[in-house]
Amino acid sequence: MKRTVKSTCSRCSALCCKYFALELDRPSTWNDFENIRWYISHQKTSVFIQQGRWFLNVKNRCRHLTADSRCRVYDHRPAICRRLDANGCEYHNMEGVREIRTEQQLAAYLAERSAKRKGKKKGMSDNSKRL
Ligand code: SF4
Ligand code: SF4
Repeated sequence: MKRTVKSTCSRCSALCCKYFALELDRPSTWNDFENIRWYISHQKTSVFIQQGRWFLNVKNRCRHLTADSRCRVYDHRPAICRRLDANGCEYHNMEGVREIRTEQQLAAYLAERSAKRKGKKKGMSDNSKRL
């Protein structure tokens, strides 16, 4: 049975109204990652990576959300809220999303990234030896 937006949202505690996210330039330099370390040093803030895109995530509920998870300004809610597709939202699908909340998680990400790069370089030099 196809889920309807109404039935989906009625089972959810309004996850989409409890944060906002802004896309970041993909970090590549030491300074970029230092900035990310600074962002996540703040309470209720994280970054997440989704399909190669980076986002700053601020976990702060919307002032229009009522205690029973309703939108107080539903008829006049911002365009971004209107555009959200409840059939593809975070209530259903967080697969492939990597969230980085702490400095330890950032350090682990950087260690993985560095290992992958070394692996790629090694692969390239092994291939060039075969040529
Ligand atoms: S759009 Fe998604 S996250 Fe938002 S209330 Fe509906 S089911 Fe929950
Ligand atoms: S305006 Fe309404 S729909 Fe939009 S985030 Fe706030 S409570 Fe949710």
